[in-house]
Amino acid sequence: MSVTVLIPTALRQYAGGKSEIEVEAGTAGEALDKLTGEYADLRKHLYSDSNALRNFVNVYVNDDDIRHVERLETPVKDGDTVTIVPAIAGGAATEGEVVEAKHGAAVEALPTLSNEEIARYSRHLIMPEVGMEGQRRLKAARVLMIGTGGLGAPLGMYLAAAGVGHLGIVDFDVVDESNLQRQIVHGTKDIGRPKIESARDRLSDINPHIAIETYETRLTSENALGLFRDYDVVVDGTDNFPTRYLVNDACVLTGKPNVYGSIFRFEGQASVFWAERGACYRCQYPEPPPPGLVPSCAEGGVLGVLPGIVGAIQANEAIKLILGAGEPLINRLLLFDALKMRFREFKLRKNPECPVCGDNPTIKELIDYEEFCGLKPQPAVATANHEEEKRLMEEITATELKQRLDRGDDIQIIDVREPNEFEIGRIPDSNLIPLAQVVNRMSDIDPGRDTVVHCKAGGRSAKAIEALQRAGFTGHLANLKGGITAWSNEVDPSVPKY
Ligand SMILES: [Zn+2]
Repeated sequence: MSVTVLIPTALRQYAGGKSEIEVEAGTAGEALDKLTGEYADLRKHLYSDSNALRNFVNVYVNDDDIRHVERLETPVKDGDTVTIVPAIAGGAATEGEVVEAKHGAAVEALPTLSNEEIARYSRHLIMPEVGMEGQRRLKAARVLMIGTGGLGAPLGMYLAAAGVGHLGIVDFDVVDESNLQRQIVHGTKDIGRPKIESARDRLSDINPHIAIETYETRLTSENALGLFRDYDVVVDGTDNFPTRYLVNDACVLTGKPNVYGSIFRFEGQASVFWAERGACYRCQYPEPPPPGLVPSCAEGGVLGVLPGIVGAIQANEAIKLILGAGEPLINRLLLFDALKMRFREFKLRKNPECPVCGDNPTIKELIDYEEFCGLKPQPAVATANHEEEKRLMEEITATELKQRLDRGDDIQIIDVREPNEFEIGRIPDSNLIPLAQVVNRMSDIDPGRDTVVHCKAGGRSAKAIEALQRAGFTGHLANLKGGITAWSNEVDPSVPKY
């Protein structure tokens, strides 16, 4: 049987850069075996050491999750599509229920519209799916947006324009020049301002009839439940796994729908996770990927228009939930590929064993999400072996490196960034070996010479050094502190920062 395996963007670097691969197989497991037989690096991303399919990787045959069919034994036939859907750092409601839960069922209890508002919303009012009643529901609704970044920008602008009466915005970041390629709610004049202030000004200008509440804070296990209780719908525009799980669990515990979106390079996901009606994020992804395995947008990049499309889908879903119109994305995962311009849809199911929304939940209050996602350093155990492993990684500053090079010291510089980052700017005489290849290409690094490893800011190069040491590299390795960004700041400002 010839089947097509679709490879997600984040894993293509381990599959020779290919987006789809034809294999001969009789089951989903066989298809994956054939694939990982050909691309060995891919295997450790898909399977654990005990050969089980990893929890943050879901596999579909056509639009069915194999966990709900026969798992890896799920049969495939000629022409079938096997899709790998990893987590990426992202029943029909009856009428107007999310608003009614708070404001009572009676239409008379909904706020009325002024003549100015009637003029403003006229294109909605003449639609049977919205009408006066729907517009009054929108005015009564309270939507909490987590983040005013790439997804939050279009989301906030469309929700404000549509007349959602109360918008809450949670963010603690300030506007940076590199945000403006996609975060269209902010402008050049806002660089350096808190994002919530910049967003509030823009949204109030779009629609002065709505109330905007801003929370300049990081969403935490301490403040999430209190914040969520005050809102009807929560829209997740975050960019990291701890906050995604926190948003999910807080939504489950407070009974709120979670309008989800996530983006990476040119690929997006969207869904509505609402535990009372269907699957939650944890049903879909019980565990986060280990830190560093799935790159963030800051590391991997994102096409500027992509969050515009995915954020607009989230705004659409939030508005539908408020109106009680149409078919929400409950129990459906929408995948969007901007490069192929293709939407695909997969069925989701509630997992009865889900630790937060299942039949016997073990998570009954919010937990430490940094720890859950493996982002907290484990306490060092003071044994000789661990001491050995934990030896401090040697660092060199950009200024020291420049001094040593000027002195004529023999140093090889290994740049572990991606080729397109190398194109933006480089340290003279450096050799490019991207992080994903560094162990396989260890023989390109001369262990007899002093070696300085660098990336953009120092994180990936530290991982490269650890990986090389684990793989038995014997040479002397030092990490360039602050990466090429520090080189630009301290040594050569003509090297562009990005
Ligand atoms: Zn669940």
